[in-house]
Amino acid sequence: MSAAGNANSANASGRVPGAQGRDGLWAPWRRVHALRDLDPAELEALGVRLVLLDRDNTCVPRGETDPTDEVVAWCAEARGVGLALALVSNNWDREGLERTSSQLECPVVSFAMKPLPHGLRRAMAEAGVPREQTILVGDQLFTDVLAGRLAGVRVALVDPQSERDLFYAKPMRKVERRLLRGVPYEGEGETGDGAGSAPSAPRASEPGEGDLPEP
Ligand SMILES: [Mg+2]
Repeated sequence: MSAAGNANSANASGRVPGAQGRDGLWAPWRRVHALRDLDPAELEALGVRLVLLDRDNTCVPRGETDPTDEVVAWCAEARGVGLALALVSNNWDREGLERTSSQLECPVVSFAMKPLPHGLRRAMAEAGVPREQTILVGDQLFTDVLAGRLAGVRVALVDPQSERDLFYAKPMRKVERRLLRGVPYEGEGETGDGAGSAPSAPRASEPGEGDLPEP
């Protein structure tokens, strides 16, 4: 079921429908190829008020200095429908982060140390938006998805923009690929890429499954 099918189901408490995955600590809420696959108007209709954005390989391809035009346009569209944005990055390059923050017109939490949840909590506190109305968009299971899980924030997992990764991320990518076998991209059904071959594979959770778990 697409999230659009639940667009009218935001409950009266303001809590956005859609639990974090119940099938694994790193189960994403939604799996899409890129930020462009998330419709800002749909998110707003679901009750989302704040979108936390990972920077590297989600907004800015690894090895480059600027976000893609597509990401810049997406952020403008998101602001246009009333969504607040914030970057939450493990990067400690303050100059680079401030540049991206300026380009995307949103605040930034640097050196967030994801998967620790503190950076996400700080961004939510600064925006004045509770976790129930917040999502995180990121490209890594063991930093972004896990951090979201620990902070009680739903996470949309995107493909990394670039094949380039920091040296210590490469082994994790292999594990990620295995864990994500059989986890379909939204709207595409089962991938057929070894579906069912990884017993511990997380499955993208369906919007409307229930409330968020306690962090
Ligand atoms: Mg990243």
